[in-house]
Amino acid sequence: MRTSYAVGVDVGGTRIAVGLVERKGRIVKDIKILTPSAGPFAIVDEVIDLVQEVSAGVQDSEIAGIGVGLPAQIDFLRQSIEFCTNLPLAGIDVRALVMSRIRHQVTLDNDGNLAAFGESRYGAGKGARDFLMLTLGTGVGGGLFVNGEPYRGSRGLGGEIGHMVVQMDGPPCPCGGTGHIESYLGRAALGAKGKEVAASYRGRAILDEAGGDPEEITAEHVVGAALKGDEAAAQILMEAGVILGRALVGIVNLLNPKLIVIGGGIGEACPFMVERAAEVIGEEALAGRRDVHVVPAELGNDAGVLGAAALAFDEYDSREGLHR
Ligand SMILES: [Zn+2]
Repeated sequence: MRTSYAVGVDVGGTRIAVGLVERKGRIVKDIKILTPSAGPFAIVDEVIDLVQEVSAGVQDSEIAGIGVGLPAQIDFLRQSIEFCTNLPLAGIDVRALVMSRIRHQVTLDNDGNLAAFGESRYGAGKGARDFLMLTLGTGVGGGLFVNGEPYRGSRGLGGEIGHMVVQMDGPPCPCGGTGHIESYLGRAALGAKGKEVAASYRGRAILDEAGGDPEEITAEHVVGAALKGDEAAAQILMEAGVILGRALVGIVNLLNPKLIVIGGGIGEACPFMVERAAEVIGEEALAGRRDVHVVPAELGNDAGVLGAAALAFDEYDSREGLHR
């Protein structure tokens, strides 16, 4: 039987979004709340409540399943959460807990993978068989599509583009490594850079964005000042664009993708940073690979929910032997 809806769940470090999604990608109903801080079971309870709320009034048989995106390293085959930096979910059997109270199949995946899934099915990656997506936000996430399928690696942990090394002995990364893309482009790294620049007169506009308190400076203040034309702030982001571009040169040389989609709160707010990265690829990638398109994501904050729903539809279809 062909189901009409799937529920997409996007659990983030700061908020949880849940949506009831049609096969064509229309979000019929959605709810967003702040992520509870009272421990893992409070998060799971909230997810269950929200799924029940968005799917109220819809027959069980019309729902393909539930996809859940988590900011975590997930062993996709075992559906186990191996590491989770921002939320206390490592080792918690979220799938079994949700399925103990809801009569639908639940599939977990990494949030970067699901954003790529969403863009692939409904957004900027539509029709592209080989592309990668990078989400620049609190962390730097990523997802990779090869031959029209998400590339997961041997245990399903693949696709962590944000933790590629771009600098030997570089700054520490929240994952415990050093010199990773996220050590330069994560929200914390850009905020720290903003603070550093704001300590001199050049960073006046950044300081003003933060209401004059240097301790309050975040990545958003750097972006805000740059969008208002401040040169020092723009320079921080252009340098970040060069680092991003250099990292992408390696990926372009290795995989020869057709398309690179840049999303996430920071990525979408900074088109000039993305353009700078594209320029670096144009200058530095090996010959024959430079025609890769670097484009902004199209789904914004909905990418996670839509990708989670797309995954749930695919899992349902493969269980039922249906083909897309
Ligand atoms: Zn890292």
